[in-house]
Amino acid sequence: MAYIIDGKAIAAQIKAEVKAEVEALARQGITVTLAVVQVGEDPASCVYVRNKKRTCEELGIRSLSYELEEQVAEEKLLSLVKELNERSDVDGILVQLPLPAHISEKKVISAIDPKKDVDGFHPYNAGALATGEPGFVPGTPAGIIELLKRSGIEIDKKECVVIGRSNIVGKPMAQLLLRENGTVTVAHSHTVNLKEITRRADILVVAIGRRQMITKEYIKPGAVVIDVGMHRDESNRLCGDVDFEDVAGVAGAITPVPGGVGPMTIAMLMHNCLESRKLSR
Ligand code: NAP
Repeated sequence: MAYIIDGKAIAAQIKAEVKAEVEALARQGITVTLAVVQVGEDPASCVYVRNKKRTCEELGIRSLSYELEEQVAEEKLLSLVKELNERSDVDGILVQLPLPAHISEKKVISAIDPKKDVDGFHPYNAGALATGEPGFVPGTPAGIIELLKRSGIEIDKKECVVIGRSNIVGKPMAQLLLRENGTVTVAHSHTVNLKEITRRADILVVAIGRRQMITKEYIKPGAVVIDVGMHRDESNRLCGDVDFEDVAGVAGAITPVPGGVGPMTIAMLMHNCLESRKLSR
């Protein structure tokens, strides 16, 4: 049976470290502030936004909440972003995605000051990651690197395979593994012979968005398997892109769903807010 990587415990460690630094800043009269912007009332977005605000509160980070109606004009959202960019008391700006169809996500993300882009989605930050410059890294892939490091898993010299090439998970994940000296292959929906490629992986990161697609036939014995997927099974229980029961019998280490990658995403967002405050001093 594989070693189970405890994302909940590692996220709690990171949050405790962030909280200690936020409290130290507070003793100097400095507040860390995250502005959270939500458009409409998509139920999943409501849950994510609520969790983010609750975590801010837990760590002593001030959160400012902006709830805009579903039909809001794009210009109005852009002018709110501009106002938040200009406010010296705002360290991080988070616009919850997805946005309604009449609003260009690309335009809105690009309007955020890259120095306040704590989600790491701005093209400037994506470019900084690709060119090895400092910048904000999206929470999910950044959290996966922390999961690996804090579990004592070496990336250097390892054969790494990432399934998925989205801008928020797959691509930045591949860049980060490369930065850590892994040898990286990125697979996607046009990849031929996926199993042959994944069976080479010492570290396999799965971000496909297909429920329990990855079974033991895709896994090299002893591999580390990181499951980014988030779904509900027939019994309405949370599950991932990996068939956990099947793969845990072959893998060396594996992240569960829930309690693996999920908790790391918010922990790293909080870490980015703190970094933004520290950098702006
Ligand atoms: P996405 O934008 O839909 O990207 C999915 C990727 O998987 C695409 O690159 C796609 O290839 C590839 N793909 C689809 N079917 C495939 C197949 N049969 N074989 C190989 N590759 C295939 O998804 P995402 O935003 O990256 O998210 C992935 C999953 O992670 C989702 O389940 C999402 O809910 C979850 N997620 C979880 C967290 C968290 O905090 N736990 C955060 C973000 C996302 P093409 O590019 O060729 O279409």
